[in-house]
Amino acid sequence: MDLTQLKTKQLYINGEWRDSKGGSLHPVINPATEETLCEVIQGTMEDVDDAVAAAKAAFKDWRHTRAAKRQALMHAIADGMESRKQDLIDAVSQALGCPPHITEWLHVDGPIYAMRYYADRAAVMEETEKAGHSVVLKEPVGVCGFITPWNYPLHQFVGKVAPALAAGCTMIQKPSEITPLQDYVMAEIIDAAGLPAGVFNLLPGAGPIVGAALSSHVDIDMVSFTGSTRAGIEVAKSAAPTVKRVCQELGGKSPLIITPDADLETAVRWGCEDVFINSGQTCTALTRMLVPAERYEEAVEIARKVADEVAMGTGSNDFMGPLSSARQRDIVRGYIDKGVAEGARLVAGGSEIPEGFAKGFYVKPTVFADVTNDMAIAREEIFGPVTCMIPYKDMDEAIAIANDTEYGLSSGVWAKDAEAAMPVVRRIEAGLCFVNGGEFNYDAPFGGVKRSGNGREFGAAGLDEFIELKSVQLPT
Ligand code: NAD
Repeated sequence: MDLTQLKTKQLYINGEWRDSKGGSLHPVINPATEETLCEVIQGTMEDVDDAVAAAKAAFKDWRHTRAAKRQALMHAIADGMESRKQDLIDAVSQALGCPPHITEWLHVDGPIYAMRYYADRAAVMEETEKAGHSVVLKEPVGVCGFITPWNYPLHQFVGKVAPALAAGCTMIQKPSEITPLQDYVMAEIIDAAGLPAGVFNLLPGAGPIVGAALSSHVDIDMVSFTGSTRAGIEVAKSAAPTVKRVCQELGGKSPLIITPDADLETAVRWGCEDVFINSGQTCTALTRMLVPAERYEEAVEIARKVADEVAMGTGSNDFMGPLSSARQRDIVRGYIDKGVAEGARLVAGGSEIPEGFAKGFYVKPTVFADVTNDMAIAREEIFGPVTCMIPYKDMDEAIAIANDTEYGLSSGVWAKDAEAAMPVVRRIEAGLCFVNGGEFNYDAPFGGVKRSGNGREFGAAGLDEFIELKSVQLPT
């Protein structure tokens, strides 16, 4: 679609498009062409107060709607997502840089599924539980503030908005400054679906202004944040004085353990592609590949081949687009230089501008070998197409290296088969584990341990985040 047709100079508050009270415009750049796609309004503190007041007023009735009504409205939203699928693909791919054919299955199909999944879970809110002489009721947590990042912008939108709607919460959504456009398509879809005014409000803006104001707002009952550990800590600190519920989905530095009996070619290929897809900007990316020492050089050679074969660009045969911003590109190139300076062996890629890509924020798919787990490239989240290959002697050492990280979002094991993988899976400290190429599953909870956050999105647990329990002690 022509993205300039979206009402990006306005905010969606209380069921209508409104001008900001004093906000300025911020350009959204296409990272493949470096051209401005459109300008998006950045909300102010006054706008936050207006949006919160609308959500608070709407909560009074919305919380008491029957689950069947919320279910029907959410299916109408999912229908709208289906009929405007191409617009969602355009909005995500043009601001993020992911090739459209990959954007469709990686960024859009899953969120449509998840919207329907939560529509059908709204009925859970009307289930009660007996506990001795009490009955336990489920109630929505209240007015929610959502802060989302740029790397999977529609996933993160739906991972918060859908369960919140199902629970009967009202909300203010703040997208990333870099990829806010799919949120505008979603606001139009939600408006057309006929959600009551004030239930959903869209308020783009700067993290330290709108994000911070949502986190600390006295009339917000819960803040759900996805992004860097740095900003997540700020959000939790701002939220503390109002004792609101805080859900944090943060960064990762996840290991992939390839066992000695694994099909090495398939495992290494899958592991590299897992890092290169979405230009390495995936919070679950398995960026530390742990390989048995006796098969290490063989694995390094496979990884080199995979990296060299990656087709870069945003065309229909391309696998990897640019990084999302010039800033992100510079951070990633800086890490590649650091890896070389730290003594890691550069097997493929490197920090120089890839040939034929003078325009666009491209970085070469990069493989480092001879990485030790104390190097910065093994400890810090690079958030780019860079994989680090680390050899191990035995499984105890592999587990020790895998768990030697402050993060615990994701992990992977590639073994002879799923059964052989399970003893290894059980020893890894992470909220997720991908076994022998198992795919992402929206029916299962998603979230991390350690500094990767707390709380879960998707699956039944994703709805629980938005539920308060009320125990009613009945006379005996
Ligand atoms: P970021 O933390 O810079 O920004 C995320 C969001 O927080 C943006 O909307 C931003 O405007 C806002 N923000 C920034 N500072 C804030 C503050 N002080 N108070 C309130 N809000 C603030 O992260 P990013 O660069 O957009 O995203 C990349 C990061 O997100 C990576 O670390 C990645 O691992 C993480 N991530 C985690 C998950 C997950 O589910 N665990 C998913 C995707 C991305």
